[in-house]
This record gives sequence, structure tokens and C-alpha cells, in this order.
Amino acid sequence: PPLVELKNVSLAYGEGSERMLALGDATMSIDDGEFVAVVGPSGCGKSTLMKLVTGLLPPTGGEVSVRGQPVTGPIKGVGMAFQNATLMPWRTTRDNIMLPLEVVEPHKRRLRANRAEYIARAEALLASVGLGGFGDKFPWQLSGGMQQRSNVCRALIHEPQILMLDEPFGALDAFTREELWGIMQALWLERRFTAVLVTHDLREAVYLADTVYVMSRRPGRIVKVRTVDLPRPRT
Ligand code: ADP
Ligand code: ADP
Repeated sequence: PPLVELKNVSLAYGEGSERMLALGDATMSIDDGEFVAVVGPSGCGKSTLMKLVTGLLPPTGGEVSVRGQPVTGPIKGVGMAFQNATLMPWRTTRDNIMLPLEVVEPHKRRLRANRAEYIARAEALLASVGLGGFGDKFPWQLSGGMQQRSNVCRALIHEPQILMLDEPFGALDAFTREELWGIMQALWLERRFTAVLVTHDLREAVYLADTVYVMSRRPGRIVKVRTVDLPRPRT
């Protein structure tokens, strides 16, 4: 079965006269290891779709399943990177990247016992994104692009099966942004996690993704998700 499957999923916010359909009749299927992008204008329901895929929001209609099982709550094995995700200024880049490990492994003693392995993991990730040797720097010592690369490393440190990217490069200048597309693609080719990217930028979607879903705004805020199969720019 596909890793993630949405069947005729809809999501309405609010009750009664306040009720508003944010997503209507969305059907999509994501395979393990696939790179999917979701493109659409502001307010079309992209973030809502992300929350449905990760089980943070139960659908009002239809069905979401992950690994063949209906989703009933937040799913495991997900890493997330956002446009505004900030690194903690009082922690080094390496310690920022290792932060999610403190959440998945709250047992202090085990965390200490595995520290050497976790540091090695963080260093390997930093090297993959061209930040080898920058682990000891503090976030404010890094450029915007370098901070976003660190954010992606932080999202991958617990080796999630699914990486959710919500406008991860949105705040960057055009040059840095395109530089990060190449880095992101190399990282995905190396590690083969399943990626779901939300973006306004169709070029970014086409550059990175195997499948691009285009979300359109419709009267009554009903939004349909359509697949567009595009030839892969890589290889
Ligand atoms: P996008 O991420 O594409 O900008 P969203 O999924 O954030 O779109 O929002 C889709 C629509 O649902 C928007 O009109 C937004 O205002 C509305 N919306 C989003 N979150 C909520 C919420 N928690 N309560 C009510 N309306 C919401
Ligand atoms: P990015 O493209 O990641 O935003 P910049 O264009 O700001 O980076 O910087 C170009 C290069 O300069 C970086 O890839 C990095 O090698 C170097 N650099 C930037 N900031 C620093 C810093 N604080 N310390 C050391 N080198 C840096």
C-alpha cells in the first residue's frame, strides 16, 4: 500500500454558521521514498493538508491512512521544517540539531549513553548540507541559508520516514533559495526519506518533486487536489 493515502478528505473549520470548508474532497497517495510537492495560493488549504497527513487534525469527511492503517492521532516518524522555525540562540548549531532527540528519548541517562552516536549523526547531517565544521557555531553566527540548512538537519536527526517541509526556503533570497534546492535534492537522493513540500513556488516544486499536487481555490472555498505528472529534472 502507499505510505500515505487520502481518500476524499474534507476539512471544515468552525461550527454552524461559522462553518467553513478549508479543504474539500482531496485525494492523494504518497509512496514510500517519494518526493511530493503541494503548490497553491495562500489560504487554499496547504497547511491544513499537512496537518491531516500527519494526523494533527482529524478529517471532517473521508479517510486518511498511513502505512495501511487509518490515522487516529499524530503519526510517528515525522520530521518537520518550517519557514519560521528558529534555532535557539543560546545553543550551538549541533545542540540545536540534536534537540528532537531529547523529545523522542526523554530518558536523560540513555540520552547521555548514546551521545557520541548522536553527535556523529549530527555531524554527518551537517556535512551532507555543506556545514561540516559549523556545529560549534551559534545560530546567529550563520547566514540565513545556513540556518535553514540547519533546520532541515534538525528535522532529520531522529531519522524520520517522512519529512514535512512547509515553505522551508520562503524567507530566503532567490539565489540562496536555488542553492538550497540543490542541497535538498542531494540530501533526499542520499537518504531517501519521503518528503512532502508545501510551497508557493512552482519552479521549486518542479525542481524537487516527483509528483506535484496543485491546489486551486474554488467558489465556496472548496478546493480540489489534482496530480500533475511532470518529467523528473534529475538524472
Ligand atoms: P494555506 O496553508 O494554503 O495558506 P491554510 O490551510 O492555512 O491554507 O488555510 C485554509 C483556510 O482555512 C484559510 O481560509 C484559513 O483562514 C482557514 N483556517 C486555517 N486554519 C484555521 C483554523 N484553525 N480555524 C479556522 N479557519 C482556519
Ligand atoms: P548562504 O548561501 O548559506 O546563505 P551566504 O551566501 O550568506 O550563505 O554566504 C556564502 C558563504 O559564506 C557560505 O556558504 C559560507 O561558506 C560562508 N559564510 C557565511 N556566513 C559565515 C559565517 N558566519 N562564518 C563562516 N563562514 C560563513
